[in-house]
Amino acid sequence: APPTPDAVAKSLHDVFGFNGFRGVQNQVVDRVLHGQSTLAIMPTGAGKSLTYQLPAVMLQGTCVVVSPLIALMHDQLRSARANGIRAATLTSADTDRGQTMDAFRAGELDLLYIAPERASQSHFRELLMSARIGLFAIDEAHCVSEWGHDFRPDYRLLRPLLDAFPQVPRLALTATADHHTRADILAQLGIPEDGMIIAGFDRPNIRYTIQPRDNAMRQIKAVVEDNPGPGIIYAPTRARVEQLAESLATATGRRVLPYHAGLPPEVRARNQAAFVASEDMVMVATVAFGMGIDKPDVRFVAHAGIPKSIEGYYQETGRAGRDGDPSVAVMFWGADDFARARQRLSEIEPHRLQSERQRLDSLAGLVETAACRRAVLLRHFGEQPAETCGNCDNCINPVGVVDVTDVARKLLSA
Ligand code: ADP
Ligand code: MG
Repeated sequence: APPTPDAVAKSLHDVFGFNGFRGVQNQVVDRVLHGQSTLAIMPTGAGKSLTYQLPAVMLQGTCVVVSPLIALMHDQLRSARANGIRAATLTSADTDRGQTMDAFRAGELDLLYIAPERASQSHFRELLMSARIGLFAIDEAHCVSEWGHDFRPDYRLLRPLLDAFPQVPRLALTATADHHTRADILAQLGIPEDGMIIAGFDRPNIRYTIQPRDNAMRQIKAVVEDNPGPGIIYAPTRARVEQLAESLATATGRRVLPYHAGLPPEVRARNQAAFVASEDMVMVATVAFGMGIDKPDVRFVAHAGIPKSIEGYYQETGRAGRDGDPSVAVMFWGADDFARARQRLSEIEPHRLQSERQRLDSLAGLVETAACRRAVLLRHFGEQPAETCGNCDNCINPVGVVDVTDVARKLLSA
């Protein structure tokens, strides 16, 4: 019989230290504990890991987790082990594979993380047959779809493996909510249509502001001065990152560090650790920064130029305010940003041109709108939001304050 709600609440508290579920976590966990295959679509930071980690400790047998990146697996592994969960990875990078396999067969693992390419290996299937499996979790499940932005052919090999264990429930997880991709995930992984759970994408505690850029340094300095808590500033290039970090440190007297892929790995690791531990630091970074970083009290995210897409904007701004406290997301855009992005379109392969152009147009739509930013964002993710949110620049200062003709002229000249 599935565990009682009391037993679930006890594990949630004792193993993870949480006093309650967030959003749809409860629904997802409940389905999984009842053996029902599920597709959970939850935004980044919503707490997808818990929806398989909690069943992993409660169910008989190991939860096998498919994850696309070894770096992500190791992050997960660390945090699972910190909670006392018996977890291991089985990847080409691991030297203790023999030990892991023994533990798995002996039923001593709650969680086993694997890369999708394992799925096609016959000896891996034999290994699974020799152990007891309680759940298959497929993380970043949009990788299974050619419609997704991140197609991984290896994910297509999962179906035959999953089908070899018809009694084991499947839990697919993703933050990508696009309509085609959803349907494709269900079909590719054999999950029933009524097994889909979609979480709200709204982040009501984030205040969205999008402004034309006139003097980037002055504008960003003002954001930094208005927001004493930890913050991230995204800049488009490594050179801009270095330059902004230096000028901001001088101009504001705050602790400001740079982060981009051109820095030595040990400097990057050090700066990241300092940021995570800090209560008032500012990180100036390229988009290389943020993936897998777990800092709940980021108070502001500023964009010194346009992000790549609405999805990118949502992801990057979503790093603010994970603790639910009021936070701000401020973007400064210039017509030249769009001009450069359009220029780059001419360099991409023809078969991707249409979707890339569409991405840019959607982003321009968000930037240009005089309507509620949140409504535009949420509609993009398939939701039907209220017309006004009361917590974005356009709702707080309805048109008239911004010089619309000036904005329009800048866009036209792009
Ligand atoms: P996702 O994979 O959806 O991006 P994660 O699983 O990495 O999100 O979780 C994001 C953060 O939320 C983690 O710090 C996690 O510990 C925290 N978290 C998850 N569930 C809860 C909960 N029920 N209560 C409080 N914090 C939670
Ligand atoms: Mg995750």
